[in-house]
Amino acid sequence: MRRTPSYRRGHAAQTADLVVVGGGIVGVSIAVFAARAGLRVHVFERGALGGAATLRSGAMIRTHYENRADARLAVEGRELFIKWGEAIGGDPGFRRTGFVYLPGRGELATGALSDRVAMLRDVGSDAEMVDSEALRDFAPDLEPGSVERAVIEPESGYADPHRTMAALIAAARDSGAVMVEGEPVTRISCESGRVGGVTTTLRAVAANAVVLCCGAWAPGLAAGLGLELEIRPTAALPARFATAGRVGPAAIDVPNGVYFRSDGASGLLAGLRDWRERDLDGPDGLLPEVDEQFGGRALAAVARRVPAVAPARFVGGRSGPLDMTPDGRPLLGPTAVEGLWLSCGWSGTGFKTGPAAGRALVHWLLHGLPHHPDIRELAPGRLMTRSETRTPH
Ligand SMILES: Cc1cc2nc3c(=O)[nH]c(=O)nc-3n(C[C@H](O)[C@H](O)[C@H](O)COP(=O)(O)OP(=O)(O)OC[C@H]3O[C@@H](n4cnc5c(N)ncnc54)[C@H](O)[C@@H]3O)c2cc1C
Repeated sequence: MRRTPSYRRGHAAQTADLVVVGGGIVGVSIAVFAARAGLRVHVFERGALGGAATLRSGAMIRTHYENRADARLAVEGRELFIKWGEAIGGDPGFRRTGFVYLPGRGELATGALSDRVAMLRDVGSDAEMVDSEALRDFAPDLEPGSVERAVIEPESGYADPHRTMAALIAAARDSGAVMVEGEPVTRISCESGRVGGVTTTLRAVAANAVVLCCGAWAPGLAAGLGLELEIRPTAALPARFATAGRVGPAAIDVPNGVYFRSDGASGLLAGLRDWRERDLDGPDGLLPEVDEQFGGRALAAVARRVPAVAPARFVGGRSGPLDMTPDGRPLLGPTAVEGLWLSCGWSGTGFKTGPAAGRALVHWLLHGLPHHPDIRELAPGRLMTRSETRTPH
């Protein structure tokens, strides 16, 4: 029988079936589905629930991905946002604006884009390749310029991160999950190569399984078990504008290096794609400011595509942390240490997929298999090495 770890500072020792480390959209979604499946779940969040990446997210919801597993989770994630009331409860503030992907020249020339659209449709996306005339019908305010073909998704849009998190937290609590804020996990305990639980700054909790949903902080905890994760802390900087001009569908505009969406009835949110690659000095590194100069560059890029927004006024923006992997894909699934699971390294894509990934991870954990074979593509082994010298104890 496993020993219950000792406790400190007067808190009773506790036990759980599953400890979730990190209370962003990914961790709280896992808590919802695990608690609904009858597991005793504890979520530990070192700060405020959602307070790192999730509440600063652009929250764009679309299905356009290059790889099957990512696209599948994005399709399933969008479905959850659309049917949120029955699937989760509450209201995530989902707005269906439609989405446009404006490709680079290379993607069209090589045929990569039409192959991708076929794959997207195969996993259930409504993605459709259109010529510039059909694009004008779909998005009358958008100037196709030299883009001959684009991909549209009529069902996509964006959500409200605050409402989404509020709904998830309520669903997790209603299902019996214990949610603790302001209490970091400092160590994962391991006995005979198997996870035994966690130690926080205030207590020890014995658990059969632990899942790391703590973004770019995950490598620090995994290192204590001799696991090296390839996750790099970077930052994303979305700028916000007040605009009288209609924005139309959300978009990723490869030729102009910008992504954007409307922000309520008279707002615009925009980010420059190259800024996702700004490295931080560690996961707690200082986040760059979203200043007027950055806003000016972002707005100029959007206005090349949607001329009506050119007079928009910069109203600020809040950068947020990203957990980038070398292939830009998450680490989702079990690790070499029995009982230790990962759902991190979301590389700036984890809002739309968070709830679906939470459901997928819980299925995998309970059934020993992912709900679809594609999901194995995301298994952590590809970007995780186990140190020979530091075996788990
Ligand atoms: C500016 C910005 C724009 C974005 N735009 C989009 C978008 O349009 N669409 C999209 O799909 N995605 C987008 N993303 C990405 C998406 O928001 C993230 O991938 C997603 O929020 C990640 O959720 P998470 O729960 O993994 O991380 P987080 O929300 O960062 O949660 C991880 C939590 O772990 C906690 N933690 C860390 N260490 C510990 C510890 N030792 N113990 C306990 N807790 C710990 C942290 O405090 C944090 O709250 C964007 C991200 C940013 C920053």
